Amino acid sequence: MTSGAPAPASVPAGVDPYLPDRAPSGLDVDRYDLELDYRVTTNRLDGVARVHARAAADTDRVSLDLVGLRVSRVLVDGKRPGRYAQRQGRLDITLARPVRAGERLTVEVHYAGAPGPRRGPWGEVGWEELTDGVLVAGQPDGAPSWFPCDDRPGAKAAFHLVLTCEAGYEVVTNGVLVSARPRASRVRWEFDQPEPTAPYLATVQIGRYERTPLVAATGGTVPQDVVAPPRLRAAWAHDLARQPQMMTLFVDRFGPYPFPRYDVVVTDDPLEIPLEAHGLSVFGANHVDGRRGSERLVAHELAHQWFGNSLTAATWQDIWLHEGFACYAEWLWEEEAGGRTADAQARAVRTRLRGLPQDLVIGDPGRDAMFDDRLYKRGALTVHALRLEVGDDAFFDLLRAWTARHRHGSVSTGAFARCVADVTGLSPEPLLDAWVDSAPLPDLPARRR
Ligand SMILES: [Zn+2]
Repeated sequence: MTSGAPAPASVPAGVDPYLPDRAPSGLDVDRYDLELDYRVTTNRLDGVARVHARAAADTDRVSLDLVGLRVSRVLVDGKRPGRYAQRQGRLDITLARPVRAGERLTVEVHYAGAPGPRRGPWGEVGWEELTDGVLVAGQPDGAPSWFPCDDRPGAKAAFHLVLTCEAGYEVVTNGVLVSARPRASRVRWEFDQPEPTAPYLATVQIGRYERTPLVAATGGTVPQDVVAPPRLRAAWAHDLARQPQMMTLFVDRFGPYPFPRYDVVVTDDPLEIPLEAHGLSVFGANHVDGRRGSERLVAHELAHQWFGNSLTAATWQDIWLHEGFACYAEWLWEEEAGGRTADAQARAVRTRLRGLPQDLVIGDPGRDAMFDDRLYKRGALTVHALRLEVGDDAFFDLLRAWTARHRHGSVSTGAFARCVADVTGLSPEPLLDAWVDSAPLPDLPARRR
């Protein structure tokens, strides 16, 4: 078990080892208040971000990630700071007076520009113009393309977001819609999201969409809307028809759904891959073909609400705790829907992985292999190996205990090992050493009777 291994000496505290070029923010952010004025036609963003935080240590400087947008004004607790400067994707602020660790401060940033995706090791990530609208895909480092933040998965915070744009568009973001008020030819949308979330899971979706309830808010069910262009109505109506059954299955297996609602946005443009955000998922027009051709991805993205969004890896190194579980949820759904059993799928995937290079350690895949498909599949195999080892009853008790214990929190492989030991009585180290912290592909354990 090497999770929780200390970061290399060259990476300072407060920096994710997979994002080593960042500076520590010096802040523990607990809420972002974002007030955005956006023009879809010209891609012009004017924003005011109020970052409510505590000082992480005694310090006289703090720093936020912000890429491609120009800052015009900074206030700290309503007053001008010593000075500020933008460089290399960061906003560095020298405080007018030093603060003590734990002291509260509000950093207010006025900024503007033409937002666009951030280019880096993972391609183009972040704010993106669609043919007629906007998509934000923040994973893993795109959040600073539209607001100043501490862009680490472990730096979770609540959000309050106001966005004003032209009328005629549907705006979707995280949390619950408070109001949508027309003002002349524009509409002011206000959303509130009290649960803490990682900045990469914050999103804005704008398009010429219609919003349709898939499951209304009645009888203790999780309300689910679909937000999509009218032309795709028949296709999504078929392809997403079984999502409510998936929700029922996952609530039973994983424990209560962690957020007040779950929405699906389907963009008018095709997308390479769907993506999860806090309380919603985004699919491309190509993912609704009217034949449920992407149904496994519908299950995958829904499962991320538990694994990734409610329980978020403290650092990117532990991304298998997101992708392995979401991939396993695909197998659970296929079995529930009358397809192959999870066990049969696991054995087929293991056979396939055996033919691929075994040079990936999923407990520390390295920055460039974070999204390697082998990590997803081997992560799911790890989950299945545990299930075989402890038996079905203890396994599903474990999943429910895991999501309850760390609900809305930050997690690590070490925390998972402790939960396994507490709930099942198994000493998980040999299994996790072999599956998570070593490269060669182990055999699946014999099935427990
Ligand atoms: Zn995923």
